[in-house]
Amino acid sequence: MRHEKFEIEVGKDDPGQSTSLIGWRFRTGAPGPRLLVTGAVHGDEVTSTGALWYVAEGLADWVTGGSVTLIPCVNQLAARASQRLVPHENIDLNRRFPGSAEGGLADRLAAALVRLLAKHDALIDVHTAGWSVPFVLLDHFPDAGLEARVAAWAATSSLPVIGEMPPALSDLAGLDRSWSAWAVRLGKPAVTIELPGFHTLDLVGAYAGANAVLNMLSSAPGLRSRARPKARIALRRHTVHAGQGGLFEAERKPGDRVRRGERIGYIRSFAGEKLATVTSPKPGLLIELQPISAVHVGRRLATLAVEDRSAR
Ligand SMILES: [Zn+2]
Repeated sequence: MRHEKFEIEVGKDDPGQSTSLIGWRFRTGAPGPRLLVTGAVHGDEVTSTGALWYVAEGLADWVTGGSVTLIPCVNQLAARASQRLVPHENIDLNRRFPGSAEGGLADRLAAALVRLLAKHDALIDVHTAGWSVPFVLLDHFPDAGLEARVAAWAATSSLPVIGEMPPALSDLAGLDRSWSAWAVRLGKPAVTIELPGFHTLDLVGAYAGANAVLNMLSSAPGLRSRARPKARIALRRHTVHAGQGGLFEAERKPGDRVRRGERIGYIRSFAGEKLATVTSPKPGLLIELQPISAVHVGRRLATLAVEDRSAR
C-alpha cells in the first residue's frame, strides 16, 4: 500500500514548534471506505499516539480497499507540555467542535479536522482514560440505523463497547461538542477508543489499541453494507463521584466486576480516618478508577459499564 506524509498548517509558529496536523495517508488503489484515525486530541494521552504508530507499522497487511489517514498526535503543543488542554488558551479541544479557522489554536485545529473529515467516510478517535481497561465509547446517535451500523463496527474491535451516559449528563460535560460527536452529527460513523495511560506511553495498552484499530479498519468495508445489522449498545457509561473530599483509597482495579453496593474503596482523611465508603451504585464492569488519589467533592472516582435496560 502506498503511503505519504502530509502536513496541514493552521498558521505559522516558531520554526521547530509546529502546531500543524501531521500524519500519514495510506491508499490502496482499490475501492473502499476512506477512514480517518486520530490520536492525542488531549495532549497528555500519548498512549493513543503510540497506538497509531503501531497501526501505521502494521497497516500494509490489513487493509485491502479504500484509504486510511492517520494523525498520531493532533494536539502537538499540548503533547509537548504533557497536558490535556491547549496551552495558554486552557481550552479542551475535545469540547470545541466545529471550531473556527479564524479563532484560537483549539478552534483552528477543530476547524481543520472538520474540513479533513469532509473527505472521509468514518472516524476513529483514540484517547486514554488513565487507570483503565481499553474500551470503545459511543456517542448518542440521531437515528437507529447509524447507531446499529456503528455498534456492529465497534464490536469488531473486540473491546467492550460502551454507550455514553444519558444526554443530560454528557451534554452538561460538553461531550456533544466532542470530535466524535461532531462526526456523528454530520451523519458519519464515528467511535472513540479509550486506552490505558496518563502522561505515560503504555506500551501494552498502545498495542492493544493498535489491534483494536486494525480490526476495525479491516472490517470497515461492512460499513457500506445495505444489510441492517441487529447490533445494539448493551452497556452504558456510569460515573461515580466523591461526596466527600480526602484521599481515595481504591481497593479494586479496572477490569473487576462489581455488584450493587459492593465496596470499591474508602475516602480517608490525610490522618487516616475513614470518612466515607465508596460503593458501586449498580452492578457492572469497573472500566476506570481515578488515578489521582487526592480528591475534592464531586471528583470522579470511578467509571462503570452498566447494562442498559432501556436499550432496544
Ligand atoms: Zn481524551
